[in-house]
Amino acid sequence: MSAPIDSTALWLPYVEPGFVEPLRTYVRERIEPEADRIDREDVYPTEIMKALARDGHSTVILPEEFGGRGLGYEHAAALCEEVSVASAAVGVSLITIFQCQTMLRLFGLDSLKQRYLPAFADGLLSSYALTEARHGSDIRSLDTKARREGDEWIVKGEKHFITSGSAAEFFVILAETDKGVSVFAVPRDAKGVSIYEGQNSATFGLRNGPHMNVVFDEVRLPFDHMVGEEGKGVRQAATVLNHSRTLAGAVSLGIARAAFEGALRFARDRVAFDQRVLEFQGIQWYFAEMLTEIDAARLLIYRATEALNTKEQVPRFGSEAKLKASTVATAVATQAAQICGAYGIMENAPFGRYLRDAKAYEVAGGSNEVLKNTIAKMLLPIAGLDPRRKTS
Ligand SMILES: Cc1cc2nc3c(=O)[nH]c(=O)nc-3n(C[C@H](O)[C@H](O)[C@H](O)COP(=O)(O)OP(=O)(O)OC[C@H]3O[C@@H](n4cnc5c(N)ncnc54)[C@H](O)[C@@H]3O)c2cc1C
Repeated sequence: MSAPIDSTALWLPYVEPGFVEPLRTYVRERIEPEADRIDREDVYPTEIMKALARDGHSTVILPEEFGGRGLGYEHAAALCEEVSVASAAVGVSLITIFQCQTMLRLFGLDSLKQRYLPAFADGLLSSYALTEARHGSDIRSLDTKARREGDEWIVKGEKHFITSGSAAEFFVILAETDKGVSVFAVPRDAKGVSIYEGQNSATFGLRNGPHMNVVFDEVRLPFDHMVGEEGKGVRQAATVLNHSRTLAGAVSLGIARAAFEGALRFARDRVAFDQRVLEFQGIQWYFAEMLTEIDAARLLIYRATEALNTKEQVPRFGSEAKLKASTVATAVATQAAQICGAYGIMENAPFGRYLRDAKAYEVAGGSNEVLKNTIAKMLLPIAGLDPRRKTS
């Protein structure tokens, strides 16, 4: 086996080393050996996720009053980055948990928060379900409907592409009510909830189990399971996505780091024309460019975590962070495979997985185009134009 690269020298932690170092050991020993199997078999990493919850990782940003650790977003980003160096499937499994926690924490009634938030410390697994067969980027109107009957809400509809859906015990969903799109909390064991693998559930990347179709067949929910304000669901969902985009960017960063390190090890060990591949200047320049891009993406992500902590220009920095990190990850995974020659293209090498995971995150959780729209939307008013109106 080839000697490891000194990751500590390459990727200086943006949070205290006492948080990152044990995590790196855990990831190397417990997640890395499982990563290829999770991807190949397309299974949800249940044991790993339950262990991450037991160790307080999946509640890192949850306030202490709900059994969390109450740390800042930079810790959540560091967590997503480190686990995704081994497995982006584990990274994306964390993201769907953080998305549901964030929605409940920011918008839920106290009774709802008390009922579900502490369960995350015990390993509650969750999915964030917005997309439908006919509604992806545009969620302003939906085919999933909810109606009020006395003290209950009744939900009917179907969601598609739901990450972590094969294992989720709890869903946060969007459904349309009389007043517009609204958010609901739905336990998996509520009568009328079922999941199935649809035609489009199997993806080539971010394979943490099939991205399930979730059916809500006249599901009756207590009144407090509507989260936030009726009719304000799109705005609330956008707020949660603005939070999770930074963390999704951190997952992409983990993929980029893994691809970079894998290629660096190969180029150091492989000899061609009587010298190591890493001694060719052309190859060194590839690494210099990749490192610069990864460092730039890392700076942007940890800048975006500051914005989340201070609540300052969150949509801008979150979108920039995900846009940059996801495109860098795809570019680095492509370049890394190239550097490794035939080895990079082999099925038993990890570069195909890196490339597939990186590409999938250019679409999931906010496509690059939608992120650019968000960034541009804050730019136009600064330039003195109304983003809702075109000048004739
Ligand atoms: C791996 C994976 C995991 C996913 N997990 C989940 C999940 O857990 N929960 C969930 O709810 N959904 C999930 N999705 C769905 C995902 O959120 C949608 O795929 C995404 O929102 C894009 O929607 P769409 O695929 O319907 O594309 P469309 O909205 O049909 O868009 C098609 C193309 O047009 C572009 N486009 C759309 N609108 C605009 C615009 N205004 N300006 C410029 N370009 C535009 C898009 O960027 C895209 O390139 C997942 C998808 C993938 C691939």
